[in-house]
Amino acid sequence: MKRVGIIALLHESNTFLDEPTTIEHFRSNLLTDGDGVLKAFLGSPHEVGGFIDVLDAAGDVEPVGLFAARAMPFGAITQACWNELVSRLELQLRNHLPLDGLLVAPHGATVAESEPDADGDWLQRVRTIVGPSVPIIGTLDLHANVSENMVAACDALFGYRTNPHLDQFQRGQDAARLMLKTLRAEASPKCRLIQLPLCVNIERQATSEPQGTKLWGHADRIQSQPGMVSVSCLYGFPYSDVAEMGASVVAVAERDASLAELAAHEMARIWWDSREEFRGQLISVSDGIQQALKVREADSTRPVGLLEMGDNVGGGSPGDGTWIAHGWIHEGRGPLLTVIADAEAVRLATAAGVKGQFAAAIGGRRDPTRHGPSLQDTWTVLSMTDGRFSESEARHGGYSKFDQGPTAVLQGTTTGITVIATTLRVAPLSLQQVLSQNVRPSDFAAIVLKGVHAPVAAYAPVCSQLIRINTDGVTTADAASLTFSHRRRPMEPFETIGHWQP
Ligand SMILES: [Zn+2]
Repeated sequence: MKRVGIIALLHESNTFLDEPTTIEHFRSNLLTDGDGVLKAFLGSPHEVGGFIDVLDAAGDVEPVGLFAARAMPFGAITQACWNELVSRLELQLRNHLPLDGLLVAPHGATVAESEPDADGDWLQRVRTIVGPSVPIIGTLDLHANVSENMVAACDALFGYRTNPHLDQFQRGQDAARLMLKTLRAEASPKCRLIQLPLCVNIERQATSEPQGTKLWGHADRIQSQPGMVSVSCLYGFPYSDVAEMGASVVAVAERDASLAELAAHEMARIWWDSREEFRGQLISVSDGIQQALKVREADSTRPVGLLEMGDNVGGGSPGDGTWIAHGWIHEGRGPLLTVIADAEAVRLATAAGVKGQFAAAIGGRRDPTRHGPSLQDTWTVLSMTDGRFSESEARHGGYSKFDQGPTAVLQGTTTGITVIATTLRVAPLSLQQVLSQNVRPSDFAAIVLKGVHAPVAAYAPVCSQLIRINTDGVTTADAASLTFSHRRRPMEPFETIGHWQP
């Protein structure tokens, strides 16, 4: 039996957030080693689930769980936390040697306080420990800010090809299949990276919209050429202020490095030439609400989804933003639903009890100047639950179990809006977040969704339309309004570049 180790270290770090990511954030999400890795991901629609699936089916390869850590996006990872993660990872790796190969799942947009290229750091450490001849093959989130260090440490990397990310399992399978071929000497993968001087607006990162299908059509065509394995377009995560922030192309060839190089060049050139299609529209709250009201005139049976991009929970925002809710109270028509992470509101609701009332200002606690002032009203408690729910379908992030802590459904007396107040912030990946509270989307004219693409799979089927609204906040879609210190310069769209050659 060949032995293939598995390591996953997943964090998307928003360096514009002042709340750092600590070891507690990992403990409360996922932090495990040894067999715990296999237990955590076996059968899950995650890339590590895909690794295990293919290795198990091979029959002559044993998957060896080494280390897995994942936390919700917050700020950069504290140094103490990073040291702990890396030392635990290295210890597990050393304890399980010798290994014939390694399957790795970095996110690609992980930042530690003193290691801006945190993924490059841990992948290089792994390479140093196992030596140059053990194949290391892995996956990357579509939002990876890919560095030379990450690519140099690995034999091959496969980016997700969908946003929302619904193909994580398949990309994990791709990586594991290439590992099997490599172990059988049927492949000796070569990987090439090209970083584009381009920041793709978060609003334009949907892979199923025209600019996305066009781009991925080219990627599919180039990767289907003889000798090629994969061509990935990594959109980057604009909220990590690091040198590698931005769009990049990673191409993998079966054996021939020059083939990978050519493919990466062709793809990068095509993307660069279509860069105008990746500029955001930046629709204001007022314009977004006017659009929503027009949509409602044509279809009053379903709500309009209003995506609050500045309070994108999946990108690290606090989830207590109120810009759209305030806008709707002033200009909207019909009932509005919004989910707000506000532990204090839940505590007050618990004290008041179901059918009870209390006066309070909800939301806007973390940073009201950026995410909107709180919503003052007298609230009636419609219902309360423990806030746990499950999702049976593949959703962005590969999560199936959710825990948002004690949760209250509140109705505002004056504002008329309905708030699902949660103790913990949970990104709107699953419709169960609403259904589990006995709230029906069709009862509302509009629903505020704290995300950009992650909510689409869950909410597109029940909404007449989704409108992306550029609100202020730590995940604003207007990246030009953020103050970067470390990004590359020049970079479109911040600066205009006359000519660029990959
Ligand atoms: Zn992502």
